[in-house]
Amino acid sequence: MNTKHEGIIASNGIAIGTIYLFNREEVVVDETKIDENMVDDEKNRVKSAIDDYISELNNTEGANEAQINIANAHKELLQDPYFSDTIDAKIVNELKNSELALNETINEMVEIMSQIDDEYLKERASDYKDIGYQLMYKLKGIKPKDLSLIEKGSIVISKELTPSDTSNMNKENVVAFATDLGGKTSHTSIIAQTLDIPALVGMQDISEKVEGGEKAIIDGDQGIIIIDPSDDVVAEYENKLKEQNEKRERLKEVKDKESITTDGKKVEVSANIGNIEDLKAAIENGCDGVGLFRTELLYMENDHFPTEEEQFEVYKEATQMLGEKSLIIRTLDIGGDKGLDYFEFPVEENPFLGYRAIRLCLDREDIFITQLKALIRASAFGNLKIMIPMVINISEFKRTIELIDDIKKEFDQNGVDYNKELEVGIMIETPASVLMADKFIKYVDFFSIGTNDLSQYTLAVDRGNENISDLYSNYNPAVLKAIKHVIDESHKAGKWTGMCGQFASDTQATKLLLGIGLDEYSASPNKIAEVKDTIIKSNQKDEEEFAIKLLDLETPEEVEEKVKEHN
Ligand code: PEP
Ligand code: MG
Repeated sequence: MNTKHEGIIASNGIAIGTIYLFNREEVVVDETKIDENMVDDEKNRVKSAIDDYISELNNTEGANEAQINIANAHKELLQDPYFSDTIDAKIVNELKNSELALNETINEMVEIMSQIDDEYLKERASDYKDIGYQLMYKLKGIKPKDLSLIEKGSIVISKELTPSDTSNMNKENVVAFATDLGGKTSHTSIIAQTLDIPALVGMQDISEKVEGGEKAIIDGDQGIIIIDPSDDVVAEYENKLKEQNEKRERLKEVKDKESITTDGKKVEVSANIGNIEDLKAAIENGCDGVGLFRTELLYMENDHFPTEEEQFEVYKEATQMLGEKSLIIRTLDIGGDKGLDYFEFPVEENPFLGYRAIRLCLDREDIFITQLKALIRASAFGNLKIMIPMVINISEFKRTIELIDDIKKEFDQNGVDYNKELEVGIMIETPASVLMADKFIKYVDFFSIGTNDLSQYTLAVDRGNENISDLYSNYNPAVLKAIKHVIDESHKAGKWTGMCGQFASDTQATKLLLGIGLDEYSASPNKIAEVKDTIIKSNQKDEEEFAIKLLDLETPEEVEEKVKEHN
């Protein structure tokens, strides 16, 4: 009774239900070689399987946006000539049958994608696996199990769920899911967030520990599943579930309100986005603007440095979608853990302390200028602001402004339109920029604190290292003091400070940050309403008094405990 297992949180929330163990049909791949006269037939079999799947994907009747996105992503992979050519080559040159040729090609693609040192692209391996299953079922004439038909109140547990499996799930029936494999940024996780059902991934061998039919609770806030819970635990979670449902109803009403505290401080609650799809979600969630548009996705998804025109189209569309609302676009923050297929980075001992972000951009001004031109042109269409990452020296910012001024001069001469009041700010992600905040503020229009990196560099704790993850805490008083110092310096100069690191999405910290004086929260789209809800109900002055006491504490544990008590 009450057996607990931990996993990675893919989507928040609580669900109580009955386990449905989802096993995929085992497909045995026939390894016999074909005769030469069968080559055309086998190629045609593959072609019709691909065509069939594409026409299924084209039928988007009743599909939600996330499902349409997956369908489009799959179509793109299926229509990539490299994919079908690789399969055909195995049939023609190696006389492999269509199933074997498909299986080998998928395995190769999965292998390639899994090795890419980028979490987002790595997850695209699961899209290839998904395509592989769907095409194989077609070749074998198997009708796959349909998750849309399972009983109400099911918690689906599986080794893995492909995006197609998840997108077939019916929210009426599936209340949550948990999988052995998968990461936070997989399409499967994104679907769970869109369906707004709790989900855990990366649970290792959970699918081998259950039989199906057991009662279970998924706590997508704590990252645990409880199998066969006792009556007491069920009662406790039924209460939490009731609170969760009440809160959801309340948040629906809050999302379009202005974020003003009870004593009249106006705060912006903006969103972090990586592309236009995220922006749509952010707007639906009632964002006051965008506090961080991470442009590196645009570079990572391409096979070349995106041209000025390609970038301009994206920035312009985002700017127009937001109208008067502010859109803060961060210039290229590549390097560290984010690579590009088409650019060779130097091999470095410490890439996080190495050739990245503004350092790379100032070394390769050709790349930087292309982006700056696209941004400055797009500024004519709305309230776009530029933000520079990883700055440590005033000279880096001054050089950036020189480049921007040169571009403006060129545009003036050529009659190219742009916003003459275009604001430029910096991210505060390093102890150097914290300590020099009083000097930086003379040159910049705003600060935005990137706590993901600021905590890592302030504490000298690698943000991705699981062995020391307990030392990585935004609640460390050293981090909080750094944040306060930066905000105070900006206020002294009559300017504002936002936060676009994950700490701004930590709803436990909303009041604390309000008390420290934060002017703008840039949060994950699904956290916007909750942050707003807290702000609307809080008094800034009261929170300030509380924050001052907290900053005097000595350990992160003490701070977190007091914050929990206070909330
Ligand atoms: C940060 O460091 O807090 C940040 C927002 O940047 P990224 O997570 O993209 O490094
Ligand atoms: Mg950062």
